[in-house]
Amino acid sequence: MVAQNVRYDTVVIGAGPNGLTAACLLARAGRKVLLIEAAETIGGATRSAQLTLPGFVHDLGSAVHPFGLASPVFASLGLERFGLRWVHPPLPLAHPLDASRAVLLERSVAATAAGLGRDAQAYFALMRPLARWWQRIQPTVLHPLGFPRHPIAAARFGLRALLSVALLSRLLFREERAPALLAGLGGHSFLPMEAP
Ligand SMILES: Cc1cc2nc3c(=O)[nH]c(=O)nc-3n(C[C@H](O)[C@H](O)[C@H](O)COP(=O)(O)OP(=O)(O)OC[C@H]3O[C@@H](n4cnc5c(N)ncnc54)[C@H](O)[C@@H]3O)c2cc1C
Repeated sequence: MVAQNVRYDTVVIGAGPNGLTAACLLARAGRKVLLIEAAETIGGATRSAQLTLPGFVHDLGSAVHPFGLASPVFASLGLERFGLRWVHPPLPLAHPLDASRAVLLERSVAATAAGLGRDAQAYFALMRPLARWWQRIQPTVLHPLGFPRHPIAAARFGLRALLSVALLSRLLFREERAPALLAGLGGHSFLPMEAP
């Protein structure tokens, strides 16, 4: 509902996570913001709803939100005060290989690596430094471009991040599971976070 006689400084179209964040930041900066959403509920592609049986909540779009958890902007908004609670399932993600097999992303790099057969060591060597040094790399990855505060850790990440998933997989892995896990995540935000 739009108030008729109110003048707004800014109009944000779409109440997905990005529109909501922009609207919150603008409002926090003192702007009078009008946020317009075409759908019946806010949240865009991050919404969830009961689609099948009572009590079962289904993601309508996104399901795994490492960059939500890691986002400095989300953290600055104090969303927990309004009910946000990150749910950490025992298995954050499964990538089906065929009708009967799947490769699993576990809560730790070591446990994930243990399910990757002959590629366990290579996966661990690739991911463990990234998970371990994430706090140092995070500002370089999530903030506007600038000189990294931890150049060595950032360079280690950057050199691998420059490669495509296909090339990285060809260079490092011998079986299908590790490349499938990487490729399945390649289109999404991809942070090998350890369990908090
Ligand atoms: C199937 C699917 C799976 C995904 N899985 C993941 C995942 O696992 N992890 C992850 O990190 N990301 C995932 N994503 C991506 C993530 O959901 C998006 O990056 C994120 O939702 C983008 O946010 P946004 O605010 O830019 O746009 P959206 O979330 O798309 O929101 C846009 C909003 O604008 C509204 N809108 C559009 N046009 C108008 C208009 N003219 N007037 C008013 N309102 C309008 C829409 O109704 C919608 O609510 C997935 C996306 C999809 C579709």
